[in-house]
Amino acid sequence: MDEAQVINALLLGWFGLSIVMLGVLLFITAPYGRHNRSGWGPMVSARFGWIVMEAGSLAAFNVFFFQGNHQIPLVAALFVFLWNVHYLNRSFLYPLQMRYGGRPMAFSVVLMAILFNMVNGYLNGRYLNLFSARYEVGWLLDPRFLLGLVLFIGGFHINNHSDGILRALREPGQDTYRTPEGGLFRYVSCANYFGEVVEWFGWACLTWSWVGLSFAVWTACNLVPRALSHHKWYKSRFSTYPSERKAIIPYLL
Ligand code: NDP
Repeated sequence: MDEAQVINALLLGWFGLSIVMLGVLLFITAPYGRHNRSGWGPMVSARFGWIVMEAGSLAAFNVFFFQGNHQIPLVAALFVFLWNVHYLNRSFLYPLQMRYGGRPMAFSVVLMAILFNMVNGYLNGRYLNLFSARYEVGWLLDPRFLLGLVLFIGGFHINNHSDGILRALREPGQDTYRTPEGGLFRYVSCANYFGEVVEWFGWACLTWSWVGLSFAVWTACNLVPRALSHHKWYKSRFSTYPSERKAIIPYLL
């Protein structure tokens, strides 16, 4: 079995597991943030947890992409740039800017996220390492690349802008929750999740790859159930919560 076949086999299992996880997460909300609860083992601070789990994806992608790869084609270099911009932000800027970095997070959640991020980092990094020559410079003008790039950048912007709105709801050191307003929060309770999902479907489109699609599907399977839980939580907690607001997809869900 060569490595391309290993990737294909892993990918098949990975798609299957994402659907299983969707089912699980619809019934068991991941225990961190407002859904944190005891019974999941030792706790670490959320700030530490985010750095450790997300830096794994940054490291895995780069190690597997650059391994033995001495001539990086232009398009592949752009893919690496986009991945790294997202993950440098998520692994370092995002946790370091958290208003309340001390809320505990179960270490078991961190371990599961590290595994998830390692597999995604391996699949995407290694696939692009093995097949980067497929993307010639002309790909930069292909409608799939251009549409994907718009979705990736747009999703990244929505995600960051929305995370910024949430951050501004608290003074440094506070851990209270308020109703988010502005931006896409006018339409959904979890505008940051909406941006993240759009971003990774953009990645799938701009790389036009099954590995990219698997990551986008995983992101949706993670975040849609969590958005439904957040939405329910807001409605039960705030009596004046805007009734027209959906959970994650404007006007739909
Ligand atoms: P949340 O929206 O639950 O929380 C984000 C931050 O904002 C937390 O610090 C949270 O504090 C705070 N916050 C949230 N709502 C409020 C509110 N109403 N009032 C005050 N503060 C609030 O996001 P997650 O923590 O689940 O995710 C963080 C980022 O990681 C997001 O951008 C998400 O898209 C991304 N992510 C991506 C995944 C993927 O599969 N690609 C999976 C999971 C997350 P507190 O922690 O105290 O609740």
